[in-house]
Amino acid sequence: MTKFVFVTGGVVSSLGKGIAAASLAAILESRGLKVTMLKLDPYINVDPGTMSPFQHGEVFVTDDGAETDLDLGHYERFISSKMKKVNNFTTGQIYESVIRKERRGEYLGKTVQVIPHITNEIQEFIHRGAAGAEIAIVEIGGTVGDIESLPFLEAARQLSLRAGRNNASFVHLTLVPYVAAAGELKTKPTQHSVQKLREIGIFPDALLCRSDRAIPDDERAKISLFANIREEGVISVWDADTIYKIPQMLRAQGLDTIVCEALGINPKPADLSMWDKLVYALENPKEEITIGMVGKYVDLTESYKSLTEALRHAGIHTESRVNIEYVDSEEIEAQGTDSLKKFDAILVPGGFGKRGVEGKIKAARFARENKVPYLGICLGMQVALIEYARNMAGLGQANSTEFDPETPQPVVALIDEWQNADGKVEKRDENSDLGGTMRLGAQTCAIKPNTLAAEIYGNVVTERHRHRYEANNHYLTRIEQAGLVVSSRTATEDLCEIMELPRDVHPFYIGVQYHPEFKSTPRDGHPLFIAFVKAALAQKQS
Ligand code: GLN
Repeated sequence: MTKFVFVTGGVVSSLGKGIAAASLAAILESRGLKVTMLKLDPYINVDPGTMSPFQHGEVFVTDDGAETDLDLGHYERFISSKMKKVNNFTTGQIYESVIRKERRGEYLGKTVQVIPHITNEIQEFIHRGAAGAEIAIVEIGGTVGDIESLPFLEAARQLSLRAGRNNASFVHLTLVPYVAAAGELKTKPTQHSVQKLREIGIFPDALLCRSDRAIPDDERAKISLFANIREEGVISVWDADTIYKIPQMLRAQGLDTIVCEALGINPKPADLSMWDKLVYALENPKEEITIGMVGKYVDLTESYKSLTEALRHAGIHTESRVNIEYVDSEEIEAQGTDSLKKFDAILVPGGFGKRGVEGKIKAARFARENKVPYLGICLGMQVALIEYARNMAGLGQANSTEFDPETPQPVVALIDEWQNADGKVEKRDENSDLGGTMRLGAQTCAIKPNTLAAEIYGNVVTERHRHRYEANNHYLTRIEQAGLVVSSRTATEDLCEIMELPRDVHPFYIGVQYHPEFKSTPRDGHPLFIAFVKAALAQKQS
């Protein structure tokens, strides 16, 4: 039977609850337990797919095509189990499911209520996501005291009651702010937030106290007394310069011991040597490179979490420090590409919408003409294709219908828009690979031998997608004749998966229609990012 650890948050959001939960999971995994993780999001949106990246940061995509909270990305980077649709759900999904049941008459005429119907549904969803694991770490989004997250907390309490003794544990993450004027750490917000939890009947076994500094023992003792948590359970989590230090920080203070005791288990001791090694590699690079990441400035920080992590992982596995500098593509539009000269490599990440796109096209051209290593991801592949079509294949008006719906040369378009030579419209239907409007989730494609892609991946590539537009096959032959190589295509619909320039023309120029960053982990890195960083290192030396 699965045992549960619920991780709740108090005082304020954005304290790194996801990373703390994932770090605990990593420790438990290193103790030989089969661990999975779930994220419960209290908002009404059915999934974060439609939410603005400014509000919600990156949308993480799983193998099975779920658009999920970015915390699932942390989970996959910290533990080895893969996340699926069922590992993340929202209030919106719970209500949708309950209302559907109600319409089908499944509640037999009863009044449908938050307790027990919504809370039961939440518990069912938790069990569904936890199935097969020895330990499920369940992170409850939001902050204790919010109206939105109350049903989730209530469901967690009920689930722990039903699971019985030693089958559920609660860990609460709070803030212990340092007030400079008083020269003191303040424990009051933490006391209040634990009181709030106790009001709902949840008694945490451990408190993770976030602060900018380590919390001295006398303050920990005070928190212990007021919050009614044994002193070893009051754990200090100070700001770390890398998230990969957190497992060791929590382990050193015995969080896993407290949780295992609460769950009545005593597995083999933790072995975090892998984490120690990668923190060492991060902190002791032998070389250094700087990558220019070209995008819409505002998008560039929180919305590319997985991407910046993937580049960091590549640094770990090439003993190099990978600096990322953000370049606003609208600035390139206005001022040209001079600002790109200083970079060892150029990356154009995924993105949506017309704004700034001409700047990205210019960046792709700059990288191609100056033989600077280039990695184009999703939109970054599409702009490289448009650039090549315009400047090398005589398709001067090439564009994507996303940016110019009237373009006479739609080299990138929705499949529905592709015209056959005889004018017949090819339709993307629900029986095809692509289902609805977005191509989502993992797909496996063969790779053309003797290409850069084959060097990186071998014979096949399985990566995750999240996009609407595709390279238009009606133009690809002409573009290929002009020298660009399509090195991988999807099996059923023959869609362009990877494109590249031959090695005798350019040292490293590759565009991929998928998002490789979702599958990079600190322990293994990712072959494409490692190859890209190696190309940048070679560029620097040349
Ligand atoms: N906007 C492009 C599309 O929808 C690219 C999407 C992306 O980069 N994720 O196809």
